[in-house]
Amino acid sequence: MLLKQIETLINERGSAAVLGQHLALLRERIGALERENADLRAQAQEAQAHVQHQGDQLRRFAQDNPEGWRCDGCGSADLARTGSRPDPTFGALGIKQAAMTCRPCGAVSYFTLD
Ligand SMILES: [Zn+2]
Repeated sequence: MLLKQIETLINERGSAAVLGQHLALLRERIGALERENADLRAQAQEAQAHVQHQGDQLRRFAQDNPEGWRCDGCGSADLARTGSRPDPTFGALGIKQAAMTCRPCGAVSYFTLD
């Protein structure tokens, strides 16, 4: 693309002075494109890392909190089961609650199990 443009300029204008000016402009343009390319690469890398992190988190949620329960403290779904207790109301009937500890805030929430 760029080479084609240079070729066109050489064919149209011919003169070395004009060619020199155009080459200087092209060098400037290439520099700008290289900077833009570096910025875009950095952004793509950042986005890829973000997606990777989100994927890891989703897999962890699916594994550790398949019910999609939410922390009573902060609302996060990043919970890990850390125990259980008898349900305060129906414990006598053998119904239990799962104790889920929130990774972000550390709060323990209880959820009645089916
Ligand atoms: Zn929390």
